[in-house]
Amino acid sequence: MISEKMKKLAENNSVIRAMFEEGQQMAREFGAENVYDFSLGNPSVPAPAAVNRAICDILAEEDPLSVHGYMSNVGYEDVRAAVAENLNRRFGTDFSSGNIIMTVGAAGGLNVILKTLLNPGDEVLTFAPYFTEYGNYVMNYDGNLVVVSPDTQTFQPNLKEFAEKITPVTKAVIINNPNNPTGVVYSHETCMELARILREKQREYGTSIYLISDEPYRELAYDGVEVPFLTKYYANTIVGYSWSKSLSLPGERIGYLVIPNECDDYELIYAAAGIATRVSGFVNAPSLLQKAVARCLDEQTDVAAYNRNRETLYNGLKECGFECIKPQGAFYLFVKAPVPDEKEFVQRAKKYHILLVPGSSFACPGYVRIAYCVSHDTIVRSLPHFRALAAEYGLNP
Ligand code: PLP
Repeated sequence: MISEKMKKLAENNSVIRAMFEEGQQMAREFGAENVYDFSLGNPSVPAPAAVNRAICDILAEEDPLSVHGYMSNVGYEDVRAAVAENLNRRFGTDFSSGNIIMTVGAAGGLNVILKTLLNPGDEVLTFAPYFTEYGNYVMNYDGNLVVVSPDTQTFQPNLKEFAEKITPVTKAVIINNPNNPTGVVYSHETCMELARILREKQREYGTSIYLISDEPYRELAYDGVEVPFLTKYYANTIVGYSWSKSLSLPGERIGYLVIPNECDDYELIYAAAGIATRVSGFVNAPSLLQKAVARCLDEQTDVAAYNRNRETLYNGLKECGFECIKPQGAFYLFVKAPVPDEKEFVQRAKKYHILLVPGSSFACPGYVRIAYCVSHDTIVRSLPHFRALAAEYGLNP
């Protein structure tokens, strides 16, 4: 028999699988081009050509024993140095290779840092709506995820409730900026206030509270909006980054953690996180991909393509009468369902071959997530169907 923990996950997984299979079934029945599948956050823009070129060049130029070999659990020294230098250039920081750990995507990085920090019963705070997997990652290490309820006016973090929910056993806070599922970017003011509250609570309880900033969407920001770099706001910040979205490499599993010298117990944390990488069974981030991303640190995905999707979808949905905040980053739109039970709305959308994710999957019922990382053509062709769906609820102006 499987473990109690995994029993719960397996039950939940069958719901996700059912959704995926329903999409596949619809595509078979009506033709893939007639199904508007907005359920997955899989990039629709291919990786820049420079990534493939870098991989080919590495294979041609470098010693295969080094390219495919084991290295230090924290990653190649020269790759970590290149990542640190790139961050310093962009954000005016002062990192070295000793502040960087190469990880198996953002998910690998989050698991490594949570394994490093948590004792059973420790609390980890996060803000709804949040990426569902945070609950599972925290549970992996017997921590408790404590959720701050959403501010549905702005979808900026609800800082009043945040301050009230910090306790002596709060070990970490996870934030995600730009945000999945809302597309909101936490502002400079929000980050200042968040940092102030954390410093105050650390003083009050005599504890260290680590702010884990999950940033796979950092480069997906529109209209010149600035995404605050949090190590400058709060000393106990640990950044988790991934190239899954920024270079469209989600299957390759490559990212990094930044653990600044200023963090309380920096040396212990850095050493333990290297061990956590090993004993979690990752051992190290994929070697070829480490070397490839190090050659592509200044490459960018086609942000303009996502921006075009964002504009078309946002304007189209507003014209249909739907209510939503214009996203400033990532590739998601969080739309208010026209009825309180958003699952009913998700069901009804299927009649128009539109696949959406209910907000309750992100601890925010009453809303649905639309992942607009699809072709622009799919968005254009979906709009008449959204209009017909809106008409069912009497939304059309
Ligand atoms: N964090 C957030 C907010 C995400 O949306 C995702 C993936 O969608 C991840 C982490 C995991 O990213 P990765 O594929 O790099 O593990």
